[in-house]
Amino acid sequence: MTFRSAPRALATATAALLALTGVTACSNDDSPAGADPQRVDVVAGFYPLQFLAERIGGDAVAVTSLARPGAEPHDLELNPGQVGQISEAELVLFLHGFQPAVDEAVEQQAGDRAFDVATVEPLLDATAGGHDHDHEGEEHAEEEHAEEASEGAKDPHVWLDPTRLATIGDKLAERLGTVDPDRAGDYTARAATLRTELEKLDTEFAEGLKTCQRREIVVSHTAFGYLAQKYQLEQIGITGLTPENEPSPQRLAEVTEEAREHQATTIFFETLVSPKVAETIAREVGAQTAVLDPIEGLSAEGGGDYLSVMRTNLQTLRTALSCS
Ligand SMILES: [Zn+2]
Ligand SMILES: [Zn+2]
Repeated sequence: MTFRSAPRALATATAALLALTGVTACSNDDSPAGADPQRVDVVAGFYPLQFLAERIGGDAVAVTSLARPGAEPHDLELNPGQVGQISEAELVLFLHGFQPAVDEAVEQQAGDRAFDVATVEPLLDATAGGHDHDHEGEEHAEEEHAEEASEGAKDPHVWLDPTRLATIGDKLAERLGTVDPDRAGDYTARAATLRTELEKLDTEFAEGLKTCQRREIVVSHTAFGYLAQKYQLEQIGITGLTPENEPSPQRLAEVTEEAREHQATTIFFETLVSPKVAETIAREVGAQTAVLDPIEGLSAEGGGDYLSVMRTNLQTLRTALSCS
């Protein structure tokens, strides 16, 4: 077990015990909810939200992530202990539309203790940053992307634009300040520090991807819409907005064709999803594979954080797209 997961396991056990015995911390009197009266108990749906809460909350918060390191968080299922954590937490950080099981539990258990980061700024449409140009003499561009463009669908992968993540961080600091007014100034200050770091990262991306020989990225699921929009890339997703859908043979053929046409040197896969399909396409077109991490969770081996994984992503992109 990693250093990070130990307190989580303990918190799970505590919440499970509370659930079993029917005792809830808020049932007795107006004493603060949660396991640690000195700190604000925050439950986060998945890693980037955990990162924000830890950076902005510092040692004033105790953060529990519902998604385990090494597990793909889209299709997270909650055990009773985790539902208990959601009902006990002083603040539940989630992103509506990303993890259906969390959405449901929040709706039933969290009440006004929930903070939906999808409400901070309007989300992009599911097709944003998609690869939607007309190839010369081709008429299939529309239908090619029709499957991703299901009516009104929004893209939840907002954290892959560092400036949006900074704005969410500012709002989180405000929210923590209302939960814990004594330390409101600390939260604001830490959010400002994090904003500086995220803006520096944004500048590195903008400069690092300014001049490249190619701008199309073939990725395993369409997690990179915000990154693509921000830095003028075009993503060609093997699958749609969630990674578990197996691509149809037709989609596989289309993506292979796109990869050829755009002379992709690299087909990207993810740490938390099988690389098989990416490898198949890469073999087909004579490209290599590389990890482009959507940072939906850290790998089980841990190591690094949002900022360092994003910098690794930037280097990977610069190599794959031959950026100068
Ligand atoms: Zn995703
Ligand atoms: Zn194309």
